[in-house]
Amino acid sequence: MNYKIALIRGDGIGPEVVGEAVKVMETVGTKFGHSFEFTDVMMGGCAIDAVGKSYPDGTAEKCRACDAVLLGAVGGPKWGHSSDPDQRPETALLSIRKDLGLYANLRPAALRPAMAGACPLKKETAEKGIDLMIVRELTGGVYFGKRERYETADRGIEAADRMAYSEMEIERIGRRAFELARMRSKKVASVDKANVLESSRLWREVMHRLAAEYPDVEYREMFVDNCAMQICKDPAQFDVIVTENMFGDILSDEAAQITGSLGMLASASLDDGVSLFGPSAGSAPDIAGLGVANPLAQILSVAMLLTYALDMGEQAAWIESAVARVLDEGWRTRDIADVNTPADKILGTTTMGDKVVAAL
Ligand code: NAD
Repeated sequence: MNYKIALIRGDGIGPEVVGEAVKVMETVGTKFGHSFEFTDVMMGGCAIDAVGKSYPDGTAEKCRACDAVLLGAVGGPKWGHSSDPDQRPETALLSIRKDLGLYANLRPAALRPAMAGACPLKKETAEKGIDLMIVRELTGGVYFGKRERYETADRGIEAADRMAYSEMEIERIGRRAFELARMRSKKVASVDKANVLESSRLWREVMHRLAAEYPDVEYREMFVDNCAMQICKDPAQFDVIVTENMFGDILSDEAAQITGSLGMLASASLDDGVSLFGPSAGSAPDIAGLGVANPLAQILSVAMLLTYALDMGEQAAWIESAVARVLDEGWRTRDIADVNTPADKILGTTTMGDKVVAAL
């Protein structure tokens, strides 16, 4: 089979880590008799420099012509200070989510045995294990609601952002979460702020209806402030967490942090058509061009791409076990090394990519 993959290398470390992911895909292709045809799609700060806008015309069409999109990261301190949305890299991220209808963001956070020392939680908490998946609604809520600024008579300027959710939006993300839980440990926690927000009260009503359709999945609901606390206190209690856009944004970064390895966390943004895959972290401008970025999140994003976009679970598992083997052998990039890591075990971006290819 021949698969078309859109590559958005982006800014900062994006091009460096995407290069390693491409090496891994080519190795998978050779082993399993597939070919991957890559189409470069420019987006983000590099597009502002080249054509004057972060989301060039035709970006979504180029992506839709492919089977899946692999994204590095976009953004950096060089851009984003303008009030013109075209001049901000984040505009490109929001636009592509909207144009491709990427309503479901899957952010796994798992503590790998070889990385247990990197977990900032108490040893006994870490030992219980962390393997949770945050399913974040990605195209609704306050990030996409109406934004306004207006003068008030006595309080100066006021700003407002509208947070709205429809039954349809809640139901489709809820279904994703329940279906995903069936492939995992069959537990869903729905997170909201129903004691305060009307949109959360509707969220809860729809989730209740859905839960009745999935009696084999253990369901519970939780306020977002409690969930933030529970993720630190006892993350082993969670399997799938489903929540709205802004809560998911915050909780998924928290969950990433407790695994102690931001450079290793992949993510998927799914639609029923073309989906997008890439690291949870950003473009890491502080280390761009130094050749020290950890490529594992990008490589593990390839595993998610194979699973969710191309239905290649076997090939994805092959990549995941190659990454586990490299880590078990003690190889580290700088960000995941600790004081006990021997200097000759610390690799750069390309040498880490080579190790994974060798393990494959
Ligand atoms: P960041 O995630 O880029 O970096 C946070 C810290 O983690 C930095 O110290 C960085 O060096 C480190 N880090 C991240 N990825 C790493 C890797 N693969 N290997 C080693 N270390 C790694 O967060 P930030 O600095 O807040 O954001 C930088 C830019 O990225 C901003 O412009 C932001 O808007 C953008 N961003 C883009 C995306 C995306 O494109 N999907 C996501 C988040 C942030």
